[in-house]
Amino acid sequence: MSVKIDIRNVRKEFRIRDTREPFTALAGTDLDVREGEFLTLVGPSGCGKSTLLDLIGGLTEPSGGEILIDGMPVSGPGLDRGVVFQQYALFPWRTARANVEFGLEAKGVPRAERAERARHHLDLVGLGGFEERYPHELSGGMRQRVAIARSLAFDPDVLLMDEPFAALDAQPRESLQEELLRIWEKTGKTVVFITHGIDEAVYLGQRVAVMTSRPGRIKEIVEVDFDTREGDLRAAPAFGEYRHHVWTLLRDEVAAAREQERKVAVGHG
Ligand code: ADP
Ligand code: MG
Repeated sequence: MSVKIDIRNVRKEFRIRDTREPFTALAGTDLDVREGEFLTLVGPSGCGKSTLLDLIGGLTEPSGGEILIDGMPVSGPGLDRGVVFQQYALFPWRTARANVEFGLEAKGVPRAERAERARHHLDLVGLGGFEERYPHELSGGMRQRVAIARSLAFDPDVLLMDEPFAALDAQPRESLQEELLRIWEKTGKTVVFITHGIDEAVYLGQRVAVMTSRPGRIKEIVEVDFDTREGDLRAAPAFGEYRHHVWTLLRDEVAAAREQERKVAVGHG
């Protein structure tokens, strides 16, 4: 299987006001994301997950190392990568359709094609019939569906998702997880999905990459392979085993992260 995103020894430092020492968020992160795979990324809060996703998205530049997509260094944001964040980031004065069309307008896609692509992608995320609703007329889950439709409308190869379902209640979250898997199977996109939910990571990911506490590196990659996706997967024994394995890996890192926070708080960080 070919490598889609090649993250090589990536380092990210931030300059913090009033301090001489740079703050190291990522130190020597290595990760290969395979073409067409669904990779989930978990790690303790503050370990550098969002920092890594922003780097893949080209929203920021690494302080060291490099990120290649299809063998080419990332040099900025691009339409080959769609990003979905936790916040809905929809324009409140635009309908669902007009929100999806927004980027297509900027790209100069003709009106009829824009409308067709918006309709198609809203349909794909299960929002057929809701095209003319405004964000305030939609539930949180539906708004996040619009955001996903908007990023899919560009037909990016890669979907980068930073805790996109974290603000949702359990029921809409689970139905969005199922929808996303269905879309992924249908479109063959490469997905990198950050979550702090172990269940979500195991349910969605073909592989779960577990990060260490800050400075984040990849601690272990867990291959998740279910015999079947039929029925209530979360209740299956295999699901529990994967879940426990990821939980064990995370537990030590969360403890380390707590200790770090404590040191920072007393001025030894
Ligand atoms: P995560 O998404 O895993 O919770 P982040 O990638 O957001 O963590 O942050 C990693 C670390 O880098 C955190 O300690 C955070 O406070 C710090 N950080 C993130 N962005 C910046 C920034 N722009 N300036 C300074 N520090 C930052
Ligand atoms: Mg984050």
